[in-house]
Amino acid sequence: MMPLLELVDVHRSYKIGESTVHALRGVSLKIRRGEFVAVMGSSGSGKSSLLHILGLLDNPDSGEYRIFGRNVNDLSGDEQAGLRNHMAGFVFQQFHLLKRMSVVDNVRLPHIYSGEQGDFRQEALRRLEEVGLGHRTDHTPNQLSGGEQQRVAIARALIRDPGIIFADEPTGNLDSVNSAEIMKILQDLHREGRTIIMVTHEHDIAAYAGRVLTMRDGLVVSDEQRDVVDGPTEIPNDYEKAGESMWHASRPISLWKDGRFIGFMQQAFQAIFANKVRSFLSVLGILVGVASVIALMALGEGAKSAMQEELKSMGSNLLSVRGGSSKVRGSARAAGAIAPFTFTDVKDIAAMRPMIRNAAGTVSGSARIVYGNKNWSASLDGVGFEFGLMRAAVPSIGRWFTREEIQKRDKVAILGMTVVRELFGNANPLGRTVKINRINFRVIGVAPPKGFSGPRDGDDVVMIPVTTAMYRVLGKDYLSYIYVEVRHAAEIKKAKKAISALIMKNHRLREADEAFYIRDMTEIQEMLSSTTQTMSLLLGSIAAISLLVGGIGIMNIMLVSVTERTREIGLRKAIGARRSDILLQFLVESVGLTLSGGIMGVVSGTGIAFLLALFAGWSVKASLLSVVLATCFSALIGIFFGLWPARKAADLKPVEALRYE
Ligand code: ADP
Ligand code: MG
Repeated sequence: MMPLLELVDVHRSYKIGESTVHALRGVSLKIRRGEFVAVMGSSGSGKSSLLHILGLLDNPDSGEYRIFGRNVNDLSGDEQAGLRNHMAGFVFQQFHLLKRMSVVDNVRLPHIYSGEQGDFRQEALRRLEEVGLGHRTDHTPNQLSGGEQQRVAIARALIRDPGIIFADEPTGNLDSVNSAEIMKILQDLHREGRTIIMVTHEHDIAAYAGRVLTMRDGLVVSDEQRDVVDGPTEIPNDYEKAGESMWHASRPISLWKDGRFIGFMQQAFQAIFANKVRSFLSVLGILVGVASVIALMALGEGAKSAMQEELKSMGSNLLSVRGGSSKVRGSARAAGAIAPFTFTDVKDIAAMRPMIRNAAGTVSGSARIVYGNKNWSASLDGVGFEFGLMRAAVPSIGRWFTREEIQKRDKVAILGMTVVRELFGNANPLGRTVKINRINFRVIGVAPPKGFSGPRDGDDVVMIPVTTAMYRVLGKDYLSYIYVEVRHAAEIKKAKKAISALIMKNHRLREADEAFYIRDMTEIQEMLSSTTQTMSLLLGSIAAISLLVGGIGIMNIMLVSVTERTREIGLRKAIGARRSDILLQFLVESVGLTLSGGIMGVVSGTGIAFLLALFAGWSVKASLLSVVLATCFSALIGIFFGLWPARKAADLKPVEALRYE
């Protein structure tokens, strides 16, 4: 009859630094199905090494290992994992239960690597019943005694209904009463027809077995067959069939099938929540990074759209003509000094109909405004009649200047909201008299709110007739700006050329360069978008740096986690986890960490933005895009920085991981 397991001249040695330890030096051995084999020998004789090779947790350096007559040495790690899951149940001296999980979850754990469908809770409960633990199913392993923990481990070994149970000193950590109970369970399993291979160094434990191998210095020195009364009476002779189903188990299985992915998610979040404080601290970097990006983006977007709103209200076919300062002759002169614009210029430009619809000259300066015992500084704009329509400055409270007032240099003023608030509080300013640069003015209106554009408060302004400003207040005899409204946006280029030619003619200039500037709104918009581009670049690099730092923090925590859980990884591999299972589990964990950090960051960033909007009055605009980007990006960081620790975990050899202290 073909043996179930067969070793032929198996060698295994370990290198420790310079020296080599020969743990197995030519072991040949046949184990038939249904046998109960005890492996005895003094400590260090190679018992565990032998068991690991038989259980496919380790591979021999040389020699052959055959299961059902087939050489399994050259199977891949994943194929061996599939075989372990299907045919082997392991019971270790240290129990190797996962402490975070309940007893019943520990028992059904091998099933997540089996590729079979279902939740297997009932089956786990049944197995627990069988080992006499039906009443402790929802406890965690720490709440159980040693004997009980070992019984849980046996229930776990049985959940896949394996043909062979491998036990390494199963009673090594137990007192004699518990030892006897565990042995009785193993004996019953043997009676059911299972093959049992057990390592022990105690004679009374070995006495339960029907065959005792004794090892010394890496060799089997005696092989005793005993008379066992309770041995299995009959061994079914269906090797072919059993072998076939076994090889079937080594096939690759799909990751996405059977809710396995959800299983990994659950496990990952279990791990995250088991170390709440540590997890939170490790994602703090990601959280702060994402939160600041979201808040800053919201602010930036808000400022941008406020500016665009204002530009839109000005009209898109508006030109502004400004006198430039010249450095040609060595020293910079005040704006307008080269081409001091006059009302003639304004009139000539306005005369270019129908291309030009309107033109208005303005003069600007600063004003000191006094009302009662309060005084305030604001910018002063001397404006023409057309300015009100062109720049959307016509008051909704009060009225705009009349043509007559402008012609007669009247002392009337329109105040911006900020000025009104500072001088009048909540009182009505209409009809009151204020002093502007020591001259009495009557307030006739309140300018519509402009908000902030950039650092400048568009409402901190006083408007008076341009003539009054030039001749009575500022003492200038030239205009600072000429605003021009072009009939069609398509004619802007043509209009600019014509205006430029006109000013050069009026002022006898040879070249337009630096003597004056003509700006249109598209230029201003371009300027705006280029500044916002710089701003986004800046924000982007801040984000990149903080997320990089956050990612390194995650990687660090994941490495710690892998090291801490080396034995857990070993156990998972022993019960059949493939490389990809471990990789995915840790990857899901790190993505889970960064993603929750990212989501917390999005929430707090949006919160900060809205608080700023609420209390500081800044305009903010949360964009869905930034939220989606930040979330995706944090998931990517999780993958990127989690990959290395996850691979480190996945590449561990099962025995080495199990032995890790
Ligand atoms: P036993 O289980 O009989 O006590 P083992 O099979 O565990 O013995 O070990 C046999 C020999 O191999 C011992 O000398 C042990 O120190 C050595 N050994 C076992 N595993 C390793 C390993 N992973 N690295 C180095 N030496 C090892
Ligand atoms: Mg040992």
